[in-house]
Amino acid sequence: MDKVKIISNEEIANNVRSFKVEKPKGYRFVPGQAVKIFIEKKEFRDDGHPFTLTSLNSDNFLEFFIKQYPESDGFTKTLHLFNPGDSILIDELFGSIIYKGTGLFLAAGSGITPFISIFRDLINRGGVSDNGLLFSNKTFEDIILYNEIKKMFSHNDRLVFTLSQEERTGFAYGRINRWMLRRYMQSGDKLYICGPKSFVKNLSLIAYEFGKSENDVIFER
Ligand SMILES: Cc1cc2nc3c(=O)[nH]c(=O)nc-3n(C[C@H](O)[C@H](O)[C@H](O)COP(=O)(O)OP(=O)(O)OC[C@H]3O[C@@H](n4cnc5c(N)ncnc54)[C@H](O)[C@@H]3O)c2cc1C
Repeated sequence: MDKVKIISNEEIANNVRSFKVEKPKGYRFVPGQAVKIFIEKKEFRDDGHPFTLTSLNSDNFLEFFIKQYPESDGFTKTLHLFNPGDSILIDELFGSIIYKGTGLFLAAGSGITPFISIFRDLINRGGVSDNGLLFSNKTFEDIILYNEIKKMFSHNDRLVFTLSQEERTGFAYGRINRWMLRRYMQSGDKLYICGPKSFVKNLSLIAYEFGKSENDVIFER
């Protein structure tokens, strides 16, 4: 386990804060991977929570985007109050959401985090090319990195932001559903899915119905 100091803690979307922390010497990861974060507070001893790295190996810090759920007094509420100079502990890397080829990425809320790291890495290598992204949020204010994502996909028309609790010009309305998948999925696409459990379950079942094999559907198992 590595103990690292927080460099910055800034709000980036509704209830979402970006934490930049020190990078241990020689630290490397595969974009999309996550770690368990532990904090030295009595009530959370031995209670590590998983979060995805959103930075790149070329950055000299590690970054996490951490969403807090106001209805819960849990780990993220406490972590959001941590200041630069405070320390957190990061455990071993893990995760099955890594890039395996061109596909359609389906994200809900903070489920975008593994895809951020993957897209940033693809941009560094030349661009997001033919990959697509359907990104669902409740409202515009909930969208993590709206401007950066728009820019990443500026040469690609397979980008849809959909809002389930706000009607807004230029945005789809409602959740990601089978019709959206049918419209935006291309033959040969991998399907990358990340979000709440029910989101992953529903959309993976639709992907299998559409003839995708287990190898083509990538989510945290
Ligand atoms: C591999 C992996 C990577 C993850 N990466 C990130 C990340 O980069 N950033 C991030 O913000 N979260 C991420 N998560 C989710 C994060 O671990 C949890 O949100 C966090 O542990 C909740 O802890 P808590 O004690 O604050 O809230 P809890 O008290 O456990 O839950 C708070 C409330 O929010 C609901 N809830 C919890 N998680 C979610 C969710 N993902 N979507 C919708 N509702 C939810 C719960 O049902 C509950 O009602 C990841 C999860 C996994 C498994």
